[in-house]
Amino acid sequence: MRIKRNNPKTFPNNKMKQAGESQLQRIIRKTGRKPSQCKCKLCQQQCHTPCLGTPQDILRLAKAGYADRLALSEWAAGILLGCTDHIIYMIQPISEGDHCTFFHDGLCELHDKGLKPTEGRLSHHSTQLDNWRPRKSISYNVAKEWEAEDNEPVIRELLGELSKVQTKIQQANDQDRMDQPRVESRFGLH
Ligand code: SF4
Repeated sequence: MRIKRNNPKTFPNNKMKQAGESQLQRIIRKTGRKPSQCKCKLCQQQCHTPCLGTPQDILRLAKAGYADRLALSEWAAGILLGCTDHIIYMIQPISEGDHCTFFHDGLCELHDKGLKPTEGRLSHHSTQLDNWRPRKSISYNVAKEWEAEDNEPVIRELLGELSKVQTKIQQANDQDRMDQPRVESRFGLH
C-alpha cells in the first residue's frame, strides 16, 4: 500500500496558510463552495429551516442586537449522515412559524447587512454534492467549527453576549430557550 506523506518543504507553508484562515475561508476550502446570491424559489425553500452559522457568524449577530433571536441548537444530522457519532451543540437562529426568524417576504433580513450565516451564504439550489459526500457538506463543516478548540474564545464571548439578554428572556417566562448554565455545560465551559 502506498503511504501518502507530507512534503517537508511545502507542508509547513500550507499549515501556516491554513492557520491564518477565517472560519468562512476554512469552510470554503473544505467544501469547495463559493458565496452565492440566488433568490429563486428553491433557494427560498431552504429558509424554512434556519441556516447554520459558525461561532463567529453567531457572535456577530448577537453583537448586532439579535441575541434574543438565537437559541441552543442540537445538530444530529451528522449521525444520520455517518459523519459523527454524537450530537453537536451550537447556538443558531430560531424558527418562527414556518420559517427562519430572519426570513420575510422571500428575503433574508440579514443579507444586506452582511450578517447572513455561512451556510446561507454558500448554499445554492444546484448543490448536489451533499447527497454523495456528507463530509464535504456545508452543514457538517459549519457544525465542526463549534467543536474546534481554537473557537472556544469566540464561543465564550458569544455566551457572555447571550447572558445579557437572559434577564429579559426569564421575564418572558421562556427559560428553556436560553438557560445559561445548561448552555455552558453543552459546550464544556464552566
Ligand atoms: S438567516 Fe437568512 S439565509 Fe439563513 S435561513 Fe434565515 S432567512 Fe434564510
